[in-house]
Amino acid sequence: MPQTQVRQKPLPITWKSSNKPGSPRILGINPWIYDFAAYNVWSRPAGLLTCLEMLWRAGCHTALMDLMDKELSDEPWPAVKPSGNGHYPKVGLPKPFLLRQVPRQYSRYGIAIQRAEQALLDLHPKPDLILITSLMTYWYPGIISAIEMVRRILPAAHICLGGIYASLCFEHALKLGADSVISGPMERPDNWARIWGILGKPPPHLPENAGMIQDTSHYQRPDFSIIITSRGCPFKCSYCASPRLYPCFCQARPQWVIAHIKAEYGRGVRDFCFYDDALLVNPEKVLYPVLEFIIGSGYSLRLHAPNALHVKYLTPESCTLLKKAGLVTVRLGLETINFTDRRDSKLTDMEWRQGISNLLQAGFSTNELAIYVLAGMPGQKDRDIELTMRACLSMGIRPELNHYSPIPGTPLFSRALEESDYPLQEPLWHNNSLWPCVKGGFSWEKQKHWKELKLKLAGHGRRKSFAPGR
Ligand code: SF4
Repeated sequence: MPQTQVRQKPLPITWKSSNKPGSPRILGINPWIYDFAAYNVWSRPAGLLTCLEMLWRAGCHTALMDLMDKELSDEPWPAVKPSGNGHYPKVGLPKPFLLRQVPRQYSRYGIAIQRAEQALLDLHPKPDLILITSLMTYWYPGIISAIEMVRRILPAAHICLGGIYASLCFEHALKLGADSVISGPMERPDNWARIWGILGKPPPHLPENAGMIQDTSHYQRPDFSIIITSRGCPFKCSYCASPRLYPCFCQARPQWVIAHIKAEYGRGVRDFCFYDDALLVNPEKVLYPVLEFIIGSGYSLRLHAPNALHVKYLTPESCTLLKKAGLVTVRLGLETINFTDRRDSKLTDMEWRQGISNLLQAGFSTNELAIYVLAGMPGQKDRDIELTMRACLSMGIRPELNHYSPIPGTPLFSRALEESDYPLQEPLWHNNSLWPCVKGGFSWEKQKHWKELKLKLAGHGRRKSFAPGR
């Protein structure tokens, strides 16, 4: 059981004022997570914070209601680790009817419903428009609850649903009860015009660098902050949503990223989490100037990269700069050690070995690294997973199994539809906790098997270690 923290006084939802009188008021809501498991890995609703930032610069008053953050909560919150991540409070719920056979506890994660309702009641003035964001497709029951809550408290409010689920499952999202649904990023001209149309105003020019900056100032007592230097990814892995969500790979201007880090540091933030899908691509353009700024500033930050880094771009220079700047959480995207039959083209055997070697040469220890291994893809054999775990542990590095979630619109989704035992047209079945493309689905015995195998191989791996430069 997670340790509980001393209760903090809840903070109200607060308007960030525009200096234009009579401007629209936009409230962003990050809804609850409804799932079998959830853990806060430096989690922020980055897309929503991006929307609020560009709307504020376009002259709107903005506010945030993050139902997954402890600032609004009036109940004890599970202890947050010194680096900023940790458990969420949860309430057990009956499983959705479709998932009634799943042998796991279903829960709502985040702040209590009554407290959320009170925070909305206390909000003055009331918003002209409410933006509800979405992330995982199978979390949509949390969106339904958020919409129902807004309807109870603010029946006249216009609710606009956007975000990842709304973009990937647009037709499904239309049925959730929002007044409007937008697909794709808000800075896209048609979406920008649509939002202003809802507000009954002509759309102003998009602010400079729109879509590349997140307004994290809505968090008044932040344990951590986020850094985004780019949107999208130039790779097109068949299982990943990034190319669908951001067809172009765009990079921010380093001066904007540095200004954000300075502002957050000034508020006492020391832990920063990179949210990029492709942090190490074209590093000379943004990442290197940002890392050089951090190194030169003497800020002493802890940097985290829980999104997998591209191992092929772990050059001696990038590894050295990342180490000097304070990267302490390093997650690597291997997926499989089978380099001849992959569902992507992001890594070769030689690049893999060289990248790990460069990390170790730069001073990272194997304990600081973890390697993501993709499990449960359509047609994948257990032997492939086992060999990949063995390969990681033979280097003394911890593998982390990431169970595959079928994502609509990705090339692998049609194969998933063919091979899964479940009706994947229904987003609840995309949940990777269910192992939707594994014959028979999730089982506790198999879960135990993978854990025991990891422990067994880890014992063996400790006796062998990977020498840099081999
Ligand atoms: S490299 Fe990573 S982020 Fe890019 S498409 Fe592949 S899985 Fe997605």
